[in-house]
Amino acid sequence: MEKTIKFEDIPIQKFSFKQIEKKMKSYIEQLKAAPDFETGFKVIKAYERFGSKMGTNFGIISVRFTLNTQDEVIAKYQDLVDEISPLISNLANEWNKVLVALPYRKQIEEKYGSYYFQMIENELKSFDEKIIPELVEINKLSSQYDRVMGSAQIEFRGQTYNIPQMGKFSSSADRETRKEAAIAVDKFFQDHEQEIGDIYGKLVLLRDKAAKKLGFEDFTELGYLSLGRVDYNPEMVANYRKQIAKEVVPVAQKLYRAQAKRIGIPFNKMYNYDYNLFFKSGNPKLAGDSHYLVESAGKMYHEMSPITGEFWDFMNERHLLDLEARPGKQPGGYMTFFDEYKYPFIFSNFNGTPHDVDVLTHEFGHALQGYLSRNIKPSEYRSPTLESCEIHSMSMEYFATPWMELFFGKDAEKYRYYHLSDSICFLPYGITIDEFQHWVYKHPTATHEERCAAFKEIESRYLPQKKYPKEMKAAGHGGWWMRQSHIFGSPFYYIDYTLAQVCAFQFYVESTKNREKAWKKYIKLCKMGGKYPFVHLLEKAHLRNPFEDGNVAKVIRPLRKILKGFDESKFE
Ligand SMILES: [Zn+2]
Repeated sequence: MEKTIKFEDIPIQKFSFKQIEKKMKSYIEQLKAAPDFETGFKVIKAYERFGSKMGTNFGIISVRFTLNTQDEVIAKYQDLVDEISPLISNLANEWNKVLVALPYRKQIEEKYGSYYFQMIENELKSFDEKIIPELVEINKLSSQYDRVMGSAQIEFRGQTYNIPQMGKFSSSADRETRKEAAIAVDKFFQDHEQEIGDIYGKLVLLRDKAAKKLGFEDFTELGYLSLGRVDYNPEMVANYRKQIAKEVVPVAQKLYRAQAKRIGIPFNKMYNYDYNLFFKSGNPKLAGDSHYLVESAGKMYHEMSPITGEFWDFMNERHLLDLEARPGKQPGGYMTFFDEYKYPFIFSNFNGTPHDVDVLTHEFGHALQGYLSRNIKPSEYRSPTLESCEIHSMSMEYFATPWMELFFGKDAEKYRYYHLSDSICFLPYGITIDEFQHWVYKHPTATHEERCAAFKEIESRYLPQKKYPKEMKAAGHGGWWMRQSHIFGSPFYYIDYTLAQVCAFQFYVESTKNREKAWKKYIKLCKMGGKYPFVHLLEKAHLRNPFEDGNVAKVIRPLRKILKGFDESKFE
């Protein structure tokens, strides 16, 4: 039966590692003792139910922690989760070892498909008891970084803001405001450079050590395995970056030149903070406050399709959205899923910029997929690997474009242009973050300064337009990466957004030709959940594989045409 409990009423279940250990060990013993498929399969299902309950409890804790990083009680729970997660992974590893060696494995495979075991074998390769000390430390350091970022109090013109709240000033139509805001944010990174640099240095060494303990040459391969990348590798990603460099960097540079012209600043005089302003008269303005935006989103989803309307109501009735920025709330946005309740949850920090609309579309796309896949069995197949997940969300941003009048009024066309050109320009940034991480893990003992130098060099190739004023000392010497949280908590993850973007562009182009067909294809993709790894999923969904030579060009070409279709003279 469908649950109706509201998010704030979901209780946190008290737990201890001892309890969890006892339970998991008992499942492992039961599985070992199960004489045949029928008995074994029952144990597997019971273990899945247990995992779903525990995962949901930990998920609730993690969400409540990000909602208020200053809440001491929740922080304690979160610390406990961080502390015992590696120990739980160890028990899960024991379980996995028994599972892959079962004499009736073939029968399980017939029921669940071979990818199920591929995922488990992947997990076995990327984990061993001996790396637990490193994993515990890694978790702690990642949370420490989150706390540093979450506690940021930026003084700006007599007021105090957190980082997301500064977004509004950084993209102001007034150049002085933009500049001052950019410098104020950079100042935070100057003041915390040593702390953040140290955290990262430790993280890199720990990851390298863990990889070597497991027999890998360095962390790269382990990082890929940990992300469940079973059907592509670093060489394929390098080849993909090459395509982006060749096909997209020049297009982005053209877009930047056009932007400079639009906002009336000579291209060679453009500074980093100027690129936050897209139009001389200001960025597309939201047609109302956050309450209005949420109402508009409801209207849009009810008009879009029956399923999106039904799902929008589902989320709202259960209070599964927390959208406003508040002091103490962790920056960023995400969607997570509470398996036990079959509830998605959307977290974001509205800051009064057009990005707020991206959240209502992007995170909603993630949530919709979670909802559409909620009954897939086994539960391991409900959510795909992360790059595939981003296809659901980024494509929804495009499916929503016809409704932009609701959010932006007369600025809707401005927004559509901004969104497309921003998405294209994002790709060179994405590969910068990715290439940097490949460099980092190949040079694990590099100093902070060497890391910054490497970043600066990569940045100069893919983002040659970026120029910082001398006051932005942190970014100026190659320290921009310190603000990219994924680098700390989710190594090698960032490229996923770009891979997904290339897929979302395909849905966009198709939807401009035949919306009905594109939408059906999208819903089908969402319903497939995580039944296949990335490249395989693309095949099933009839999407072009970005790793294949020539495919990035094929995706970008029609976009250039769409861009030409905008009447830029109207954007004064
Ligand atoms: Zn996303």
